[in-house]
Amino acid sequence: SCAIHARGLRYSYPNGHAALDGVDLDVGHGERVAVLGPNGAGKTTLMLHLNGLLRATAGSLEVAGLDVGPKTLRELRARVGLVFQDPDDQLFMGSVREDVAFGPLNLGLGRPEVERRVADALAAVRMDDAASRAPHELSMGERRRVAIATVLAMDPALLVLDEPSASLDPRARRELLDVLERIPRTLLVVTHDLPFAAELCERAVILSAGRIVADGSAETVIGDA
Ligand code: ADP
Ligand code: ADP
Repeated sequence: SCAIHARGLRYSYPNGHAALDGVDLDVGHGERVAVLGPNGAGKTTLMLHLNGLLRATAGSLEVAGLDVGPKTLRELRARVGLVFQDPDDQLFMGSVREDVAFGPLNLGLGRPEVERRVADALAAVRMDDAASRAPHELSMGERRRVAIATVLAMDPALLVLDEPSASLDPRARRELLDVLERIPRTLLVVTHDLPFAAELCERAVILSAGRIVADGSAETVIGDA
């Protein structure tokens, strides 16, 4: 099975606008794929389909071995981690530790397992020293990495990141790249940052007006973009 298998995926917003207009996409396990394209191309809409936040108008979608649909929603949300552009959409507790523990606690895991997951997720994003800190005191780069940890703690098969390098200074951006390069997960990275995409991802697709208009090695696709 693929990490993502989409065929003829279409989505129209309630106002009738076709944001996805027949997307075919296969992503293998462990691949790192950049999703590029102009504003309004449908990147966010596609991302919201991957864990069932939006339901396709037509076409088929399998993610992490599950048919996306009402019966699989719960399992999908555990297997597919979405990291939004604004970390403040994902951080709402008083401490980093509580934010990262929130998902695993919600899964009903026991305290030792929750603590192990929190420690592993914070180590993976190199924020182990910040467990007791308040998220709002952290820098943008640190909050991004904590937001990634909240998703990693769910042990997802697929990680989908929306503009992960946006508003980061060069040092925070470098640190994030180093962290993401070492995360052994299938990654889908929506970004306008072509050098970031080229360094992190081996493959890139370009979405334009709801269709995939290029798909190949990141080097080739970004070189032609
Ligand atoms: P991108 O993330 O590539 O910028 P989006 O997925 O946000 O693109 O949007 C794709 C298209 O759908 C755009 O034309 C956008 O204006 C439109 N769109 C996005 N959200 C809505 C919505 N809630 N209602 C109607 N149209 C929308
Ligand atoms: P991004 O920059 O991540 O692509 P957008 O700026 O396109 O995000 O969209 C931000 C929010 O506004 C999203 O929730 C999207 O669904 C909504 N949105 C975008 N375009 C429209 C539209 N034409 N009508 C209604 N809502 C929209």
